[in-house]
Amino acid sequence: MRSSNYWPLITMLCMAMACSSSGKIQSWMRDVSIIPRSEWKANDPIPYLRHEPVRITVHHEGTKLLVTDDAVRKIKGIQTWGMGKDRNWADVPYHFFIAPDGKIYEGRNINTVGETNTEYNPKGHLLICCLGNLNEVEVPEAQLASLVKMIAYCSRTYKIPYETVATHRDYSKQTTCPGKYLYSYFENGYIKQEVRKLLEQK
Ligand SMILES: [Zn+2]
Repeated sequence: MRSSNYWPLITMLCMAMACSSSGKIQSWMRDVSIIPRSEWKANDPIPYLRHEPVRITVHHEGTKLLVTDDAVRKIKGIQTWGMGKDRNWADVPYHFFIAPDGKIYEGRNINTVGETNTEYNPKGHLLICCLGNLNEVEVPEAQLASLVKMIAYCSRTYKIPYETVATHRDYSKQTTCPGKYLYSYFENGYIKQEVRKLLEQK
């Protein structure tokens, strides 16, 4: 095929791009910034089971991490431990991490099944993990705000209904994850209500 035959396709692509940058994307979507794996010096993953995420499930990491602590080092440590001989995982267990300061980090490929230490099957679950132990400390405001944004972002980007959002303990009797302080925002309906507000913004 001669290159000139591509022009209609290129024109259509340009038009599509122009449309999506001319106000149809809400400002909160543009504000979501995901720090790539290269920032936390991720090792390459091992090939693993693929899936299509159809629900969003929230965890806490479960060990202490304060706003002033180094989240990058923590995530790298989670990968080293998870891919080590104790666990033999393909990568970090979660698709995204949210630090106490609200920064969002890329975890494993969203099209690979996550990992768990408990009895539920994470196939089909998009896993978001809040760093820290939210059974012992209140959820920092910035972390909670980023979690709401990230649930809305994943719902829109990956076409997963936000109503599917739940937590690890909703699927497993073996854990209190995501911790009592974070769980309270699911129990009282706050998370779904705030996510819905973002998704309904004009
Ligand atoms: Zn969990």
